[in-house]
Amino acid sequence: MSSKTIYKCPFDYKTTIIQLPVDADTEKGEKRRFNWVKKDADETRFVKCQPDTIVDAKGDAEEAHEFYQVDSFWDFDNVGVSRHAKTEDGGIIHLANGQGTQTFKICRYLTCGECDKGAIGFGGYPIGDVDENHQNANDLSYFVSF
Ligand SMILES: [Zn+2]
Repeated sequence: MSSKTIYKCPFDYKTTIIQLPVDADTEKGEKRRFNWVKKDADETRFVKCQPDTIVDAKGDAEEAHEFYQVDSFWDFDNVGVSRHAKTEDGGIIHLANGQGTQTFKICRYLTCGECDKGAIGFGGYPIGDVDENHQNANDLSYFVSF
């Protein structure tokens, strides 16, 4: 039995975006799971990556409500990354879990590495972080939507 769940692109249903440990669905993964707390001003639209266990889900890409924080950018199998968003045009996003609500500055949007559609996640940093430059992609926290 596989110890990972494969998440696919919600547009082409073929491309593997990321493989997450099944722990992502249990208590062990809870700290990394966030609900999207939407505010009226939020303009960004994220879509859900589809777990490959849902085989007949073809249809319009569904709007995302949850995010999972990955260890690093290198955990992804196939993603594209937008250029570094300037402070003034990058959005912010509010995410909540059992630990409370955190606000993140979105620096980069993630898209499918094959068809380039998205956004299926983002890279950013918590607002209030001491170093707000974060020009280096490796310094960001990455979240995938599902
Ligand atoms: Zn795709």
